[in-house]
Amino acid sequence: AAPDRVAGPRPVRAPRGTTLTARSWQTEAPLRMLMNNLDPEVAERPDDLVVYGGTGKAARSWAAYDALAACLRDLADDETLLVQSGKPVGVLRTHAWAPRVLIANSNLVGDWATWEEFRRLEDLGLTMYGQMTAGSWIYIGTQGILQGTYETFAAVAEKRVTGRVSGAGGSLRGTITLTAGLGGMGGAQPLAVTMNDGVAICVDVDQSRIARRIEHRYLDEQADDLDDAVRRAVAARDAGRPLSIGLLGNAAEVFPALLAAGAPIDVVTDQTSAHDPLAYLPVGVRVEDWEAERTADPAGFTERARASMAAHVAAMVGFADAGAEVFDYGNSIRDEARKGGCDRAFEIEGFVPAYIRPLFCEGKGPFRWAALSGDPADIAATDAAVLELFPDDAKLRRWITMAQERVAYQGLPARICWLGQGERARAGLRFNEMVASGELSAPVVIGRDHLDCGSVASPYRETEGMRDGSDAIADWALLNALVNTASGATWVSLHHGGGVGMGRSLHAGQVVVADGTALAAEKLERVLTNDPAMGVLRHADAGYDRAVEVARERGVRVPGLDA
Ligand code: NAD
Repeated sequence: AAPDRVAGPRPVRAPRGTTLTARSWQTEAPLRMLMNNLDPEVAERPDDLVVYGGTGKAARSWAAYDALAACLRDLADDETLLVQSGKPVGVLRTHAWAPRVLIANSNLVGDWATWEEFRRLEDLGLTMYGQMTAGSWIYIGTQGILQGTYETFAAVAEKRVTGRVSGAGGSLRGTITLTAGLGGMGGAQPLAVTMNDGVAICVDVDQSRIARRIEHRYLDEQADDLDDAVRRAVAARDAGRPLSIGLLGNAAEVFPALLAAGAPIDVVTDQTSAHDPLAYLPVGVRVEDWEAERTADPAGFTERARASMAAHVAAMVGFADAGAEVFDYGNSIRDEARKGGCDRAFEIEGFVPAYIRPLFCEGKGPFRWAALSGDPADIAATDAAVLELFPDDAKLRRWITMAQERVAYQGLPARICWLGQGERARAGLRFNEMVASGELSAPVVIGRDHLDCGSVASPYRETEGMRDGSDAIADWALLNALVNTASGATWVSLHHGGGVGMGRSLHAGQVVVADGTALAAEKLERVLTNDPAMGVLRHADAGYDRAVEVARERGVRVPGLDA
């Protein structure tokens, strides 16, 4: 666009096929993935450049988007583009092993890291909220979180029956789960529950979110009202039939009403956008008035949202008192509810210490990849390759098989599965061989969520309740970004805030391109070894025995453990 005429919102879709629109696959890949994040099939509010997670954006403005795309099309393989909160700010001469793009999003100096200051700066056009994979261009739609949610509910089911989590998973058959939030991430919950053979009641205030999840087959049906939802849930539970039911309403009213009615709920959680009080609808505000009200009076709106979250969480505590398995699903609702006056909020446990940390000790985390060709056959081929590489992993086989049957791709076809130290590098090298041999029609990108074993400092989520008390030590996230930069990742990002909000986390991401070349193989081997190794050594340092064992077994060198 001419500098004086900035083009505004328009539908964006990544190119498909093997014709390059940039100078190489190293730069075509970030370009396609930026565009893919904004694809209307992928992004929750593409016109506002919002990908997911309340206000998580891929670019600061449409002018910044155009500038990013122009830079990526022109970027050479010995240059590095710098992105400061969604806007390109420099192109520097580097070298072939350096990342093609370095991204820093939403970072503020400690004492200034509040929503108030962030919004002041955002209003001045100086920053944007990058969430986790929104501003780092590796969001793959709701599937991205589906697998993690599937794993989590499998662990919930196991713990409910056996009292512990071994990683083998259990079944939710014969149980009813209550949750809220059917957004970009939260929308994975109904399918994750039915994949574990359970019944789910999923509350959202926004009818369009319920409709979208039904359209994408993540949600089975919608109830007419609260009583109807309970009737349908009980009938399905008694028949041992998996079923997910959408219910239109405000969770701050529906949860207390269900508790008061003595509804037979076994598992309770929540995935509204509670990390950002302006993205949580208080009781008494209509969805149509949401935008106007939060803009007119952000401070007053925040107070009302927190008061509603206090009622919402008080009901969750009530369900726990009544014997249900209740957990915080990583959206900071406990802290917001506490601020809103709910004294017992932190009696609810976070999902990472409750179910996920044993996996982190093995370097396990959300490994994901996307086919730049746009051809679903490429993902089918990689699915088969993963099952061949890890033939003994029954849970992985179950996941891939169900994902093939049940997951509708959004944007470029993609897959996720949790792999650990050693496994990620094997998969990456195999995919690179498949690109080289022509088994795949075009390169693939391999990345991950920032919610990973060694990439995040987040005391209410990934690093809650660390054995050595190191919950708020953020050095690990910075080291992770530096390690990936030093190891040959194609793009590396360092964010603040993410899923838990301002002041509460620092986290890093990486994406590496498998373009079939020998150089890519060397980079993949290093990045996909060193990135999960950060998780192993971080947990070994914190004193987790399993991480120490894994470090010894799989050759992760930790000074002091060598002897
Ligand atoms: P989103 O903004 O796309 O969706 C939030 C949904 O909550 C919307 O559909 C909205 O209508 C609904 N909602 C808001 N207030 C409500 C209320 N009072 N009652 C009922 N529904 C209400 O966000 P998302 O991407 O789905 O993420 C949800 C939350 O989960 C965020 O806080 C995010 O940071 C967090 N998160 C958790 C994980 C995890 O692994 N557990 C991962 C990523 C994100």
